[in-house]
Amino acid sequence: MGKIIMKNLAFYSYHGAMKEENVLGQKFFIDLELVADIDKSAYTDSVEDTVHYGEVYQTIKDIMENSKYNLIEAVAQKIIDEIFKKFDKVEEIDIVVKKPEAPVPGIYDYFAVNFNEKRKKFKNIAYLGIGGNIGDRKKNIELSLKYLEESESIKIKKVSSLYETEPWGYTDQDWFMNIVVEIETALSPYELLDYCQYVENELKRERVIRWGPRTVDLDILLYNDYKSDDEKLTIPHPRMTERAFVMVPLYEINDSLVINGQDIKEYMKDFNAEEIRKIEE
Ligand code: ATP
Ligand code: MG
Ligand code: MG
Repeated sequence: MGKIIMKNLAFYSYHGAMKEENVLGQKFFIDLELVADIDKSAYTDSVEDTVHYGEVYQTIKDIMENSKYNLIEAVAQKIIDEIFKKFDKVEEIDIVVKKPEAPVPGIYDYFAVNFNEKRKKFKNIAYLGIGGNIGDRKKNIELSLKYLEESESIKIKKVSSLYETEPWGYTDQDWFMNIVVEIETALSPYELLDYCQYVENELKRERVIRWGPRTVDLDILLYNDYKSDDEKLTIPHPRMTERAFVMVPLYEINDSLVINGQDIKEYMKDFNAEEIRKIEE
């Protein structure tokens, strides 16, 4: 591990809890230390093997010049989140955001906040089935992805094509659109279920008829090799292997899964093309 140090980066920004600060703006200074996996670059002499501090600077500059937060705490957190998202090699961030012209009558060098954060390990791999058949079906799926992405503890790794499928279970309703996504997550299975239900609620899902019409349904299909028979959370999802709208997109993003001891390729023999229509890559 090495360290990249950036000291006293200066910006003119409009953060602040007082209206006047958002209009007039003021100076801010940022100190940053990144602990990163850059040792290799010392031997290869290649920028590919390090963290490009010019790009880190640009990321911070974008946040400082194009956003307005009330608190420097929120500014610091936003910078931390963006750096972890964009720079894979960074493992730990120490940031100081300084405000030398704070609206506090007195004599001082500056007020500042300091946060230190280690990268969260997203070591669990899960597959989610997402689908709906009310309203703008495609938009609801896109919004679900956006909500997943917004969680600090979820990273979307793969997204299947978009499929249109006949309703299952209760057939007197409109066709569905479905996708399957692979995510990496720091959430436990039950935390992930809570988050899926939060997204369903945000998208105004109402449960009226079992397997009936809905704006969006997010089901956990698989979570590592985790097994659970609990009614609140059954994993692997108990009906997944009977459903073309789950298995076809799932197979598309990973053709080497093993579900309940059986290779996904074996399950795929049971599905035919009429049940499901690919509508967009
Ligand atoms: P199906 O589960 O057959 O796809 P559904 O998705 O329409 O039906 P919901 O109304 O979304 O069913 O969920 C009913 C309950 O199922 C939820 O309250 C949840 O606690 C439970 N559940 C059990 N296992 C899972 C799972 N793997 N993923 C999501 N919900 C699950
Ligand atoms: Mg479901
Ligand atoms: Mg569900």
